[in-house]
This record gives sequence, structure tokens and C-alpha cells, in this order.
Amino acid sequence: MLRLLADPELGGDLLLVGLALTAIIDHDLSWSCDIASIHHLAYGSRGPRVAIGAETREAETHWMNTRTARVLVDDIRRYRPPEPRRECLAPTPRKAACGKKATQFDWVTDWSTGEMRNLAACTKHHDWFIQQRKTNQETRPVVGEVPRPYANYGGVLARHFPEINWPKLWADLDPNWRPYPEREPVAPTTPTLRIVPEAPSKPAKPRAPRRPARPRLRLVPTI
Ligand SMILES: [Zn+2]
Repeated sequence: MLRLLADPELGGDLLLVGLALTAIIDHDLSWSCDIASIHHLAYGSRGPRVAIGAETREAETHWMNTRTARVLVDDIRRYRPPEPRRECLAPTPRKAACGKKATQFDWVTDWSTGEMRNLAACTKHHDWFIQQRKTNQETRPVVGEVPRPYANYGGVLARHFPEINWPKLWADLDPNWRPYPEREPVAPTTPTLRIVPEAPSKPAKPRAPRRPARPRLRLVPTI
């Protein structure tokens, strides 16, 4: 738990869900490791839901619509392009970038890495904007696939809970998800737990597999 609190990337809802996972995995506060159980511990049984209005009744049992599921989806390990720029990026004779408020936006791809770059231009630099897009499309390699960019976002909870089969969960949450390459190889671990996206139907499922027994205290003195 202390490691969770010390992680600067863990905050808000993500930290709440992480603490709920700690309660389940390290302290056995729930018999099952599914999204419903995590949600109960993080927000309470009547916690905030995403679906409202006419869909409320369905959302009562459809745990994929919960705030917990949204938090887990946002933490899916993936490549995320940089934040879009709001100012014109066209070079001028005096400046590296025009800097005026942009009115047209798009993305161009670095075909050698698969990474994306924002394109933004003001009305004055419309022609530059069109040319940049055209050049990018024309330089797309004809042969071979464009590489998948390195993952640079998400996977924060996965760092703390290697016993969970995260790729399986991410694929359950997003059927279009495929693993992204990592700049630094992830240490191989053997997951022993799987988060079940749907709430278990009654009667309840057997208990989720546990990690082997281990010493209660995990803090070690530092030199
Ligand atoms: Zn401009």
C-alpha cells in the first residue's frame, strides 16, 4: 500500500482502484477479483455510475459501465500522441513557428516509428497545412507495415500488481487493443489472477486463486 501512495503517477480514481485491488489481493477483503468487487471497495455499492437516465437499470448490473471500468480503460497500456497544439506551427522567415491561434488541425505520422505529430495552422498558413498533410501521405512507405509506436501511457496499476493478467483484462475491456512494444522490456512475471469484467452471476463463483502464503510484513530496512 505504501508503494501505491508513493507512486506520483497514482492519484485520484486510479489510486482508489489500486487501494481496492490491494484490499482484495493482499488482505482478502473480497472473495473475488472482479470489477464489481473492486467497485464496491473503491466507491461503495451505490457508487457513481457512468450510465444515467434510461440506462440506469441496466447499469445496475452491467459493471462495464462503472466508473471503475472507466478508470481501468484509461489505464490500458498504449501509445498516446502528444497533446494537440493550439497555435500555428508553420515556419515564417523570422520565427520557427508562426504562433497565431490555429484554426485547422490534423495529425501526421512518422512512418519510421509510427508515432504521431500534431499539425496546426492559422488561416494565413492554410497552404502550408495542406502541403504538410500531402507530403506526409506521399511519403508513406508502399512496402511493409508502419511500425507500432512504443507504449508511453497507462499501465500504472500493472506495475504494482504483476500477479494480475493485465493483457487479458485490457483485451477484455477493449477488443481492439493489441500489445504495444516497450522501450524497456518488462520483467517477465507469471500472472496468477485475472480480473473478471462482468459481475458474477448467482450462485457465486468459487474463490479466485490466491497467491502463495508469504510473510505478513514486507517492509525491509534500507541502509
Ligand atoms: Zn500561421
